[in-house]
Amino acid sequence: MAKFDSILGTIGRTPVVRINKLAPKGVNLYVKIEAFNPLGSVKDRLALGVIEAAERSGELKPGQTVIEATSGNTGIGLAMVCAAKGYPLVVTMAESFSVERRKLMRFLGAKVVLTPAAERAFGMVAKAQELAKAHGWFMTRQFENEANPDIHERTTGREIIADFAGERLDYWVTGFGTGGTLTGVSRVLRKERPETKIIVCEPADAPMLTSGEKQERNADGSPAKPHPAFKPHPMQGWSPDFIPLITGEAVDMKAIDRILTIPGPEAMKCSKALAQREGIFVGITSGATFAGALEVCKQAAPGATVLCMLPDTGERYLSTPLFGDIGADMNDEELKISNSTPNHRLPPKTA
Ligand code: PMP
Repeated sequence: MAKFDSILGTIGRTPVVRINKLAPKGVNLYVKIEAFNPLGSVKDRLALGVIEAAERSGELKPGQTVIEATSGNTGIGLAMVCAAKGYPLVVTMAESFSVERRKLMRFLGAKVVLTPAAERAFGMVAKAQELAKAHGWFMTRQFENEANPDIHERTTGREIIADFAGERLDYWVTGFGTGGTLTGVSRVLRKERPETKIIVCEPADAPMLTSGEKQERNADGSPAKPHPAFKPHPMQGWSPDFIPLITGEAVDMKAIDRILTIPGPEAMKCSKALAQREGIFVGITSGATFAGALEVCKQAAPGATVLCMLPDTGERYLSTPLFGDIGADMNDEELKISNSTPNHRLPPKTA
């Protein structure tokens, strides 16, 4: 690591790490760990990308308030970038997302405006648009902003090309929230690694791409209504209740070779397995993407190389079902260890 002029210089250049125990024999499975970004997720890239693009175009004026609708990681990344650059930030977010995400944004100086859970992603976007219009704030529009896939084309995509230069790369596996990662990296892979198969995972409960049904859009590309194949799912940060314009670009490019649907419990299981068998501590969508990558490995030819995106850190999910069976008190096994020597024991719990 070098010296940096600001925290913003540390965004990107995330490590690619080999999977040693969970990969089937004969397949080279690697993960790209976006938790190494300063605020712990892939969305730090987008945050820097959209703010700097708006500064360059003049759309964002010094000191102007920035607003965005986000399930959390974009807001956390934007809160860091806005703090470092001196822009006030307002985030709209459905009340159903994890509490630590809200608190993190507020700790970084942002204002968090909650929207009704029943209105889902659609409601939080509509609220952000309403506030931006009423107050003259700059809305980053992560779901439609071209600066989103652009930053992934310039950074994530280039990093993958560099890390696998002169080596096989048979499959690249990702999910989508906005589709920024998917579309930006796909632009690079399609040009420079045409042999690499692009595999997109989505929740089994919300098989929007699998359904083949088109998303209805407004003139600006934003969704006109929720997608008919959407149902609520546990993969926070994946698949909002519409197919974003940016995700649509990857579909239209015919960049996607295969779509996999991932059940929620499978995602949780894989996230835990990555932590306990590989020491890689990541969130639910990482577990979900990894579940897809294991599926790809099963069908891959011997000697194949698979790269799987891991979008964020597991620390963001302490209050979610991911930690549902992790207790705060000692379990029977831990009590047994404690009782195996005589001293420094807690008094027995009374009912
Ligand atoms: N996983 C998590 C946890 C996320 O927050 C996001 C972004 N919303 C993604 C995956 C998907 O990233 P992208 O927006 O680039 O598709």
